[in-house]
Amino acid sequence: MIKPDGVHRQLIGEIISRFERRGYKLVAAKMMTPSVQLAKQHYAEHDGKPFFEPLVNFLTSGPVFAMVWEGKDIVATGRKMIGKTKPLDSEPGTIRGDFGLDVGRNIIHGSDSVDSANREIKLWFQAEELNSWKPVTQAWIY
Ligand code: ADP
Ligand code: MG
Repeated sequence: MIKPDGVHRQLIGEIISRFERRGYKLVAAKMMTPSVQLAKQHYAEHDGKPFFEPLVNFLTSGPVFAMVWEGKDIVATGRKMIGKTKPLDSEPGTIRGDFGLDVGRNIIHGSDSVDSANREIKLWFQAEELNSWKPVTQAWIY
């Protein structure tokens, strides 16, 4: 999910390109401004932490671009492509490492496990919004 800062900075195309070029397949996407309830559910694991309220306020401050990507090891590889949470740890070449400097404005969220991905997909998308399709390319493009 591209966070409000990524949308404001017009990085949607750049980010989609990175995943497409890697060989991943976009199966759902939408722009929306999340409700406070949705943002709190999404970040429930951080409830009670000092950054929870600012995080929810930020996420609900404007449109986000929610996506579902499919392909080999997408969750683990996606996290690699996104980069680490802390700006000093996010390597150049990653999305956060190339575009971010602030832990609270780190452009993009990525599910941290397959279980989280399944939970988050249900939270953000209706079943009928998920598209099943096959690219007309090699078998290794997912
Ligand atoms: P990630 O997004 O890499 O999975 P976390 O799940 O730990 O990171 O945290 C969720 C989001 O909360 C982060 O992407 C970041 O925007 C914000 N965040 C995490 N830790 C801090 C912190 N110490 N101060 C401010 N914001 C934070
Ligand atoms: Mg996380």
